[in-house]
Amino acid sequence: MATRQPSKRLAHLSSAIFTEMAQRKQAVAKEKQVIDLGIGSPDQPPPPHLLAALVEAVQKPTVYGYPGSEGSLAFREEVAKWYQYRFSVELDPATEVHSLMGSQDGLAHLALGWADPDDVVLVPDPGYPIYAASIHLAGAEAYPLPLRAENNFLPDLTAIPEHILQRAKLMILNYPNNPVSAVATLDFFADVVQFARAHDIIVAHDLAYSEMAFDGYRPPSFLQAPGAKEVGIEFNSFSKSFNMAGCRIAYVAGNAEIIKPLAVIKSNIDYGVFEAVQTMAIAALQNDRSGAVVNPTSALYQERRDVFLQALAAVGWQIDPPKATMFIWAKVPQGWTSREFAFELLERTGVVVIPGSAFGQEGEGYVRMALVKEPDVLQEVAKRIGDSGILTER
Ligand SMILES: *Cc1c(COP(=O)(O)O)cnc(C)c1O
Repeated sequence: MATRQPSKRLAHLSSAIFTEMAQRKQAVAKEKQVIDLGIGSPDQPPPPHLLAALVEAVQKPTVYGYPGSEGSLAFREEVAKWYQYRFSVELDPATEVHSLMGSQDGLAHLALGWADPDDVVLVPDPGYPIYAASIHLAGAEAYPLPLRAENNFLPDLTAIPEHILQRAKLMILNYPNNPVSAVATLDFFADVVQFARAHDIIVAHDLAYSEMAFDGYRPPSFLQAPGAKEVGIEFNSFSKSFNMAGCRIAYVAGNAEIIKPLAVIKSNIDYGVFEAVQTMAIAALQNDRSGAVVNPTSALYQERRDVFLQALAAVGWQIDPPKATMFIWAKVPQGWTSREFAFELLERTGVVVIPGSAFGQEGEGYVRMALVKEPDVLQEVAKRIGDSGILTER
């Protein structure tokens, strides 16, 4: 007889550190005002012209049917136009673009469509948690690619052992990166294409932060690299770029044959993104292309980055400014592990940061701080950190 036990695969999901952090935060909140820089959820609403597009769309009686997992043709066509405008990348809206209920949806299900239990999937370490989790859900094996400062947080593809390469089916990359905030050049992507061809590995690039970049920097698409569309796909999302995280809309673009198994999995488990939300997303891309309203996202986070890093430097914590993303990836002071530092910081100051080790072994020695508060709050965080003495006592 079956015992009443949840499935064994749960053991590999969601790092215990996140749960523990949430519990300690609750306890600390009874005594102190907590400032949470933990989760990377945008704190701002979408711009008014996108809210207006959504409001108009929800009033149409025709948008309430099942939308279909692949996304409307109008949506896929607009994504193709935007890729042409933004990256000079050609996409066939019929076969090379597919809508997603957030990138999370695509990332969670990709391995189910592509990996069997004997297969290896290469994932960045530290990495966004769903990458490794999705591979465990598919019963496959995740092989970590260390991202280290001495290598500009790019994986060393030459360091992967031959026996792993022989079993490797898929590789996941993410630039601009969460949690380490590093960026990649088109030259690096070109190397990845050569590597993927040589070893017959599929590349899935997660471009969640394409429109959240600073000082004029424009993150490239993996699909811009010569031959990339033969070996790979790319995920992009409206969550961070347009403050639409709660709307749950994203897409995967690139090689049609690589998208197909993901589409099959999805067509069995969901019915697609609410059509009014697709209309809102179309408005976001159209507006971005036409330049009618400048996307405020980059300027907002750039200001926060500058204010925060200046204030932290003033209390003795020097951190290199990231070129993109909403995250500050900071080395913890000498003498602390990531975990000890994050918990002690919370106890003393009420500030929530995530220990780097929550994102993988290679995250040890760092913490991640999300720029999800207004500049004056970030200044307050720096002041509390300085006053706590934690930076200098070991
Ligand atoms: C936020 C984030 C996502 C999730 O995006 P959704 O489209 O909201 O599911 C995916 N990848 C990375 C790296 C992220 O930081």
